[in-house]
Amino acid sequence: METIIQASYMVAAVLFILGLKQMSSPVTARRGIVWAGAGMVLATLVTFMVPEIIDSDQAITNIALIVIAIVIGGGYAWYSGKNVAMTDMPQMIAMYNGMGGGAAAAIAAVEILKARTEASHDLTGSTSISDILGPDVAILGILGAIIGTISFSGSIIAWAKLDGRLNRSKLLPKQHLVNAVLAIITVGFAASIYFSADLNTIIIFYALALVLGVFITVPVGGADMPVIISLFNALTGLAVGFEGYVLGNAAMIIAGIVVGSAGSLLTQLMAVAMNRSVANVFFAGVGTDAAAATGDGSEGVMKEIQAQDAGILMSFASQVVIIPGYGMAVAQAQHKIWELTQLLTEKGVTVKFAIHPVAGRMPGHMNVLLAEAGVPYDMIYDMEDVNADFKNTTVALVIGANDVVNPSAKNDTSSPLYGMPILDAIEADNVIVIKRGRGAGFSGVENPLFFADNTKMLFGDGQKAASELIQAVKEL
Ligand code: NDP
Repeated sequence: METIIQASYMVAAVLFILGLKQMSSPVTARRGIVWAGAGMVLATLVTFMVPEIIDSDQAITNIALIVIAIVIGGGYAWYSGKNVAMTDMPQMIAMYNGMGGGAAAAIAAVEILKARTEASHDLTGSTSISDILGPDVAILGILGAIIGTISFSGSIIAWAKLDGRLNRSKLLPKQHLVNAVLAIITVGFAASIYFSADLNTIIIFYALALVLGVFITVPVGGADMPVIISLFNALTGLAVGFEGYVLGNAAMIIAGIVVGSAGSLLTQLMAVAMNRSVANVFFAGVGTDAAAATGDGSEGVMKEIQAQDAGILMSFASQVVIIPGYGMAVAQAQHKIWELTQLLTEKGVTVKFAIHPVAGRMPGHMNVLLAEAGVPYDMIYDMEDVNADFKNTTVALVIGANDVVNPSAKNDTSSPLYGMPILDAIEADNVIVIKRGRGAGFSGVENPLFFADNTKMLFGDGQKAASELIQAVKEL
């Protein structure tokens, strides 16, 4: 039985890795998700054969509890996954990340409490968690408990911020000092769990780790939110891997390490894309109220353009580069934008889509929307591949993007966005910006692009404005 279980876990782990590999390209991503899902189903089914579960005195209770958890958790995940709006996807990811971290921390708690009970009954004099579990298992179990708990409470704060339920960012006085002291105390309690089996120590340790996760996440905001979510994803993976070691579960170890390393790489890549270090993301407080208030403060007049004139400009352009942002997702304008693209292409205009790595509210947000609308992949360009091309562009059409085209990130050292690479829309001969009004972007920073000589604003909801552009182009 043990061999079948371990072999099945290995097959599940291979499915996770192959699935992840396929997720690296939009062409194979859907298949990758199915493969990884099949691995998860296999790993879950095999768990019903684990001797500790089926051979124990409480086998029926154990199985009933697992089934109830699967029905509630799976049912809710199925429902929410089916119904979530594209714009709410990052919140959902943050929440599911947190659940993973919480589950890993809960496994650690169960194992620590089990070891504590054993220690109190041990007649040979073992009185510490490390005596009962062994030093390696105790260390990794406790590490998983810290990381998982921080990821749990931190992800809930990230969810609340992204969902608009919590003030986006607040930097309390001496916040970083408080965080550092709290981290040292938490590690102190973690160490004392290792050497003892005191229940109060365990409870205080978990409470401190929960508070630490909250305190670490509260000051982070604005443009840094994607990096934090990705980091918590990596931490959750690591915590799951550690707890997999504690349980001797190969599938958990491999899946955890795969998620941990993929998440770490993504975190690093996103930080590089914003020209920031991961430490800076944690400690700079970008997007906090204080930081946003120091924004570029651009003033001036926004020049308006009507859809008809914008349609003429684009129809006679040699090249149009479309820059989608969060507002396109809100307006669900991707289908109309694709229709507009096809009309322009028929008129001989070269059309490209320029995607910033953090456009929208999650990595790949814009790619998913454009793929859903049917835009072919070879029309979609990453920032570094398209930026030099703006000089040869007649019209840069910005739809619902703001921070990712904000030139103050390049030329205003006082801007909270300073250092983040942007799409150089401003370099195009003409810039047309579709947005509803004077609303700021996610970081809350004013955007000088909207006041530039070559920029004209096409005010309105993204979908409505795109429909008007289609009409205008058709009439020519
Ligand atoms: P922004 O959030 O900077 O700006 C979006 C703009 O869209 C707003 O200025 C808004 O202006 C406009 N808008 C909103 N609704 C509509 C609508 N219905 N029709 C037309 N326009 C609309 O978006 P960007 O994509 O440029 O930048 C993403 C930001 O989000 C970055 O700061 C990034 O760091 C952050 N972020 C990114 C994540 C990721 O992983 N991609 C995750 C979390 C945050 P108005 O109100 O006037 O219409």
